[in-house]
Amino acid sequence: MRDRRRFLILLSGLLALPLVPAGAADRLPVFDTHLHYSERPWQGYPPARVAGILEAAGVPRALVSSTPDDQTLRLHALDPARFVAELSPYRGRIRWRNWTEDAGTPAYLRGRIRLVDYRGIGEFHLNKLAEAGTPVVRDVVALAAEHDLWLHIHATAAAIRRVKKLFPKARILWAHAGWTDAVSEVARLMADYPDVITELSLRAGSIAPKGTINRAWRELLLRYPDRFTVGSDPYTAKRAANYAGLIDAHRVWLAQLPEATARRIAYGNAVRLFGDGGLAAFRK
Ligand SMILES: [Zn+2]
Repeated sequence: MRDRRRFLILLSGLLALPLVPAGAADRLPVFDTHLHYSERPWQGYPPARVAGILEAAGVPRALVSSTPDDQTLRLHALDPARFVAELSPYRGRIRWRNWTEDAGTPAYLRGRIRLVDYRGIGEFHLNKLAEAGTPVVRDVVALAAEHDLWLHIHATAAAIRRVKKLFPKARILWAHAGWTDAVSEVARLMADYPDVITELSLRAGSIAPKGTINRAWRELLLRYPDRFTVGSDPYTAKRAANYAGLIDAHRVWLAQLPEATARRIAYGNAVRLFGDGGLAAFRK
């Protein structure tokens, strides 16, 4: 295979053709830190098929959550090295809109927390600043601390600041870098809270509009190479069907960074947080 690739590179050079695309063996492995396997978008995808989709996309390991949580356990049971379980508070009518007001949520989470080796609680949403201080959220933050778990939070930079003010020791994986926050706002938050890890699902388009990496984003990624991870966030059927495309969109901008930095962001930082599952794919 190597000889064939070398031959093609040589040939493309001779013919002045663009370099042949890297084969699967050369592709940057990605640790997806924002996988969902919720019932609706993934209807018709049994666990083995999902594992096959990740394999084909060059994703040896992923942090997965779902509504309901049993879906996550199905993936984890199939392949615990590939699927790192994260416990979602969402189930039935308890969803992103109302979970912080649901008094039953802490007991629900406590009842499940020992089912498998969960590594985080989330992804959960904080829709308003005030939600950061509700008794339910206080309990959930305490539960995470008790079990040494990450809190995977979808919220604006302002809401993350509120959480850190109330709970300075909370370990936060910040979903989508706030999604709508400007890169300058992301930079300020990361400077003020050096232990916040920022996850970049849904952000490939703002990092590299039209495929070229944005200057402010590039500076920020180079300033904090140890504090970013990438993710897919397949929360709709359309995104689930385009899983490999979501991962490849990150590879476009990762390829424009120094290789060591790209590797940290693609998988190295996530491995530091969640382990490598004993997989050889991450040993570079
Ligand atoms: Zn989200």
